[in-house]
Amino acid sequence: MKVLEDRIRKDGIVREGNVLKVDSFINHQMDTDLFEEMALEWKRLFAGKPINKILTIEASGIGIAAVVAREFGVPVVFAKKAKSINLDDNNFTTQIQSFTHNRVYDVIVSKKFLTPADHVLIIDDFLANGCALMGLLELVEEAGATVEGIGIAIEKGFQQGGALIRQRGIQLESLAIIDAMSEDGQITFRHQD
Ligand code: 5GP
Repeated sequence: MKVLEDRIRKDGIVREGNVLKVDSFINHQMDTDLFEEMALEWKRLFAGKPINKILTIEASGIGIAAVVAREFGVPVVFAKKAKSINLDDNNFTTQIQSFTHNRVYDVIVSKKFLTPADHVLIIDDFLANGCALMGLLELVEEAGATVEGIGIAIEKGFQQGGALIRQRGIQLESLAIIDAMSEDGQITFRHQD
């Protein structure tokens, strides 16, 4: 998506360890006009799918997912990071390895908000190694819900997550795919049709 690629080129900062900082428009300050444009693009890409819920993960996916949910006219649920998993009957639970913080999180979703009746579009800001998405897919599976697709703002195509998800036959729509980036600010995008 050209507008997102242009913005990444203009305002993204490449940090050591293959981390792209997008704090000025996605991860700290949020450009909701840009989110709206992204939401419209996903609406087009997932047209015809019976999506009745948006699912994301705390915290950085929430802003984008909320705008997407409004565009689709459906509720948005975020998987919560929990300090420790209480083994109760009220929540679906899984563990996720964090790329940016290099630690393992317990995450939960209430059984009230994810059920077999749900047809879910998963939304997140970044796709790197795929750990966050694998965790979300596990929660959807535990709930007996259906994944209709995954929308990612920025996929780091040089990491394995995208390939892992596509291998599973899930429709994955990343609005910007980065094939290479370097700390001197060079960013190469994969050209998509
Ligand atoms: P994964 O689980 O696919 O390895 O990483 C995805 C999660 O890590 C995303 O939810 C995002 O919050 C974070 N993340 C991964 N790579 C980056 C990055 O380069 N920049 C930022 N800001 N977050 C990232």
